[in-house]
Parts: sequence; structure tokens; C-alpha cells
Amino acid sequence: MACDCDQHTPKQPLMPFNEALNTMLEKATPVTDVNETSLLDALDLVLAEDLHATFNVPPHDNSAMDGYAVKSIDMNAPCTLELVGTVLAGQNFTGELQSGQCLRIMTGAPVPASADAVVMQENVSANGTQIQINEVVTKGANVRNAGEDIAEGALVLSKGVKLNPSDLGLLASLGLERVKTFRKIKAAVISTGDELIAPGDERAPGKIYESNRFVIISMLKRLNVEVIDLGIIEDTESAIRSAFERAMSEADIVVSSGGVSVGDADYVKKIISEMGEIGFWKLAIKPGKPFAFGHLPNSYFMGLPGNPVSATVTFNQLVVPFIRKLSGAKSQTPRSVLATADNNFKKRPGRLEFQRAWGYINEDGSWSVSVTGGQGSGILSSMSAANGFVILAADGTGAEQGEQVEFQFFDASIARL
Ligand code: AMP
Ligand code: MG
Repeated sequence: MACDCDQHTPKQPLMPFNEALNTMLEKATPVTDVNETSLLDALDLVLAEDLHATFNVPPHDNSAMDGYAVKSIDMNAPCTLELVGTVLAGQNFTGELQSGQCLRIMTGAPVPASADAVVMQENVSANGTQIQINEVVTKGANVRNAGEDIAEGALVLSKGVKLNPSDLGLLASLGLERVKTFRKIKAAVISTGDELIAPGDERAPGKIYESNRFVIISMLKRLNVEVIDLGIIEDTESAIRSAFERAMSEADIVVSSGGVSVGDADYVKKIISEMGEIGFWKLAIKPGKPFAFGHLPNSYFMGLPGNPVSATVTFNQLVVPFIRKLSGAKSQTPRSVLATADNNFKKRPGRLEFQRAWGYINEDGSWSVSVTGGQGSGILSSMSAANGFVILAADGTGAEQGEQVEFQFFDASIARL
């Protein structure tokens, strides 16, 4: 098959970002394999069932304070009540309070039906069983109602939620030990390039340290994807072919970087076309133009550009939403604000640009944003210093200092936690 990465083929139009993303998402068929997972192993997995509460949480009205359970009708003025018992958290008072009586009660202990308010212990003077109430309370004061967190029957979490720490607490509070989750996605990661050496290797003329795998694998880990690291692959057709063969036998998605441009040693697209199919290539974005998407017989293929920032941006903007969909998770809209540009963010018309920047909130609640450094596609330092992207429309020329720009926060796959 002829290689359409040949630099002598005529220029093809670049695909707009949204079209590329939508095409990819349409192709992503979510996994259906479900596992029963114990709660502590379920962090960052995707819930495969709707969960409803089978009882109220909290299960009983209980005290929000250490103090005295009272009848609010006794509370028309500072008064003295007779102490008739004590109830600690974990206990249950089975007696019935009469008018003029109170019960010593601790935080979390059930408030008996015969009481309807709790007076903080700081607001009483106790003398034996004579409890002088110094600050009257109204009905419901310092009482946490049964079901005020979750009512019996309520939908607690729905299918497609990626479980976070508080979700797991919520499920624990419902007494659940295990939940149904979708299986993890498996991704194989390949870095191509004869110039690449691994950190730890001795420096050599013409060689550079490989960095893309560290970014990509770390982002995959954040996404809770199982990673098959296939290392650095030299720029020969046979090495690239055998790496892809291994990758596709094991992985749902194969992510390579480098070798998808128009250079003499850019074999990745050719090999993928022979083994599977390139769906599209070359996007109207900057950085990240030579991004390629396709498939191998048993897996999806994402060909990231070699330049470190291009690889990072395309992975973050295109592969992350793809993986989310593949994993069964609900879609997530990136979080953006309008921010005042501290400096010019200029560009040439033609491609959607993602410029690395630092967004911050001002005292008056408005947002501002500053560029974090050079915007070349190999300059990772400005990426590492950034907390998001200034996104500049494809057909525009960017923004002048003082103008409003769209600032998109880094998502959980890449943000500094
Ligand atoms: P390529 O897309 O293969 O033409 O690579 C474009 C640029 O990115 C070249 O300067 C490569 O040396 C560099 N590059 C490619 N892969 C990596 C990598 N894994 N880590 C760091 N730089 C890379
Ligand atoms: Mg290369």
C-alpha cells in the first residue's frame, strides 16, 4: 500500500478539532465487562449500576452535639429540667421523656421520639439531676434528621460515575461492601525514534532523552488505565510492525508517539495502514497537527506527534475523552472561564491553538491569565509551569493584552494535585 505520509503528496485540508473529537467519540465502544469490586479497590473505577438507598442515612434522628435532649415545648424561658438518663453514640434510649425532663445525649446518639431538640452542654448549668437550661432552643435544634443525607429509595450514584473518595464513603454509609464496576481499559504505549535514549542512559551525540512515555503513562495512570509499556522503538518498519503486533494483542488502545509526520523515517502511519486503518490524520490544531487516529485488528490506534507538547496536548484533548467514553464513564465538559489576558496571545489564522498559561482569580472575583513561556511544540517547561490552556479560535488572530480569552483548566489527567 502506498504511504500517504510521503511529503510529495499534495496538501490535504486539516480536520477541525471538534470534528476529530466527535469522530473519535463515535468510534469508541464502551467496555461492557463488569466486575464485583470491593469498595477500597473501586477508587477511580466506573460504576456499572445505578445504586439506590435501601434505608435512610442517617438511619435515625441523632444529636449533632454533646448536650441534653429536650422537648421544645418546655423551652419558653430559661428553665430547669430533670435529668432522667444518658444515651451515648451506639446506644438506644428506650424510655419516654415526660414534660420537664431531659436526657444527657452525645453526638451521633439517637434522639428519642419523645424529644425534639438538643441543648448544647455549653448552654446548661448542671447540678446533680437538676439541669438549668440557659439558652432555649427551638424544635429541631441540633438534631440531624433520619434520611437527611440520603432518603430511602433515592438514587445515590448512577451508572457511569467514576468513583471518587467521597462516593466510596457514601457507598460505605449504605453498608455496601462491593459494587459493580466496569473493567479497566488496557493501553499499550510506544515511543518511536532513533534519536531517543532512556533517562539513565549515557548521553550521546545526536541523542535526546525520551520524555513522551513519562507524560503519557502518567496520564494513563491518572485515568486508572492499565499500561503496557513497550518502550522506545527504533525507526525501522520491522521494529515498528512487531511493536504494534505485540501491542494490539494485549491492549484495547495503542498509543504511539513520533513517526506520524512527513519525515523520511516516519513509518507509523504506513504500518498502521497495512495492519489496520488510519481513520484520519492531520488536525487544524496547534500544537498537535500530525495527530493520527485509526485502528488495528483488535484495538484502537492513537498516533501522537513526537514533539513533547504536541503529544501531551493531543493526548489530553482527544485521547482522554476517548478513554473516558471507552471506560463507560459519562462525558465531562472541560472547565473554562473567561479571563483577562495579561499579555498578548497572538496566532496566525488557520488552526485552533492551545497556549500554555497560568490562570488566577483576582480579588474582585474576575479571572486573569498569563502565558507561562515559549509556545514551541518542544517546550515542555511552559507546560509544566501552566495550570491550563488559553484556547484561541482557529480562524482568529488571537488576543491582545487586556482582552478576554477562554482559559481552560487542566483536567484531572494532567493537573498538579
Ligand atoms: P517525530 O514526530 O517523530 O518527527 O518527532 C518530532 C520531534 O519530537 C523530534 O524532535 C523528536 O526528536 C521529538 N520526539 C519524538 N518522540 C519523542 C519522545 N518520546 N520524547 C521526546 N521527544 C520526542
Ligand atoms: Mg521520529
